[in-house]
This record gives sequence, structure tokens and C-alpha cells, in this order.
Amino acid sequence: MSEFDFLADARADVARACRILARQGLVDGILGHVSLRVGRDRLLVRCRGPHERGLLFTRPEDIRLVDLDGHGDLDGYAVPNELPLHTEVLRERPEVGCVVHAHPPKVVAADLAGVALRPLVGAFNIPATRLAAGGIPVYARGVLIRRRDLAAEMLAAMGDRPVCVLRGHGLTATGATLEQAVIRALNVDELARICLEVAQAGGDPADLPAEDLAELPDLGSTFNDTLLWQYHTARLAHDGMDV
Ligand SMILES: [Zn+2]
Repeated sequence: MSEFDFLADARADVARACRILARQGLVDGILGHVSLRVGRDRLLVRCRGPHERGLLFTRPEDIRLVDLDGHGDLDGYAVPNELPLHTEVLRERPEVGCVVHAHPPKVVAADLAGVALRPLVGAFNIPATRLAAGGIPVYARGVLIRRRDLAAEMLAAMGDRPVCVLRGHGLTATGATLEQAVIRALNVDELARICLEVAQAGGDPADLPAEDLAELPDLGSTFNDTLLWQYHTARLAHDGMDV
């Protein structure tokens, strides 16, 4: 495959990721973005152009190729104000191939309500449970992450975990692949929904017992990420919402 064909396919997939996040309620309007590493020091990132229509209607041409300082073939598009959130992760975490940043209301509400994203459920959603069991850190500042020093603070809060809640703001989710990062973002949102609903119903259950957690298999990235990605992209196509 030529680099041109690779980039065209990758742009379409990043645009689909933005549409999926919007349809699942993790982003509203024009706020939020997805980036995908291309080689050592470039990334495709969702930008805003003169005909911006929001994440739900992201088109492949909204996804621009830039370097880690945000320079590239922008052609009238602007990189996100929070580009450093993406580029610092890509600089500091070589295993990361994709970064998702979204403003999911349930994740923000759960954190502000003091409802921790704990592993309450088990086989209901195994990847989400394992994510919660490993700990979901919180970056405790509600700032716009528009400078490298702020992105470095977020990374410090994140540690070696793949996701991070941003207090009063949203979330950052990473993955080796686009599919993995998107599904992790969806799983954090799912955890927030369950934990909030349990708390609102007056429940205060203990975490899943350790022996049950140990019994939950890791079904692998094909099952956890690829098949769900295929489901969500099929839904886009079914509803006439593919890019
Ligand atoms: Zn943001």
C-alpha cells in the first residue's frame, strides 16, 4: 500500500472514530479530538476548518497530518487548542499509537460527585472491569490542556495507565491502535454510567471479589477491540452515517 493510500484509509478511520464517540454521547458539538501516530514524529489529528460541523459529522479532510509541534499541511485548518495533550503522550509513551480526548458528561459528573470508577461489575464488561481494577487516575485540574507543561502534569497523573479522567473536563484514553483507544474511552464512559446509576439507586456495593476478578479471562484485542469497532462502524454505515 502506498503512503497516500495508507493515509487516506487512516483519515477515514479517525473520522469514523470521531463520529462513533459523538454517537455514543462522549462528545457533543465541536469539542473533542482523536489523533493517530504516523511514524516516529507525525500524527493525523482531527482539526477544525472553515466549514466545521461538529464531531458527529467529521469528514476525512478534517483529519490533518502534522508533526509533534503542530506544523504540517493545514490548508486553512487549525489544530486543536489541546494539541499538546496528544503530542506529549505520543512523545513520552512510545507504545501509544492513538489518543482520544473527549468530554463525556457522565465521566465528569461521576468524578465531581465523588463516585469512583471502581470494578463493581464482572463479566458484564470484562475489559471495563479490568480497566477499573488497574486504577483509573484523575488529573485534578479543570484546565484547557493547551501547553506542554499542562500536558506533562496530566501525564504525571496518568502514570503508566492507559486512561485518565480530567476533573471538570473529560477524559484521555490511549491505545496501541485506534480501535483500542476508542473502545477504552467507551469503556470508561460505561463504567461511569454504571457506577453513577448504582450510587443514584442508593447502592454501595463492594468491588468485585478478587477471586471473581482472577476468573475473568482476557479475551484478547480481536474480541475486545476489533469486533466492537466493527460493530460501531457497521452501525454508522447502517444509519447512513459512514464517512
Ligand atoms: Zn478538552
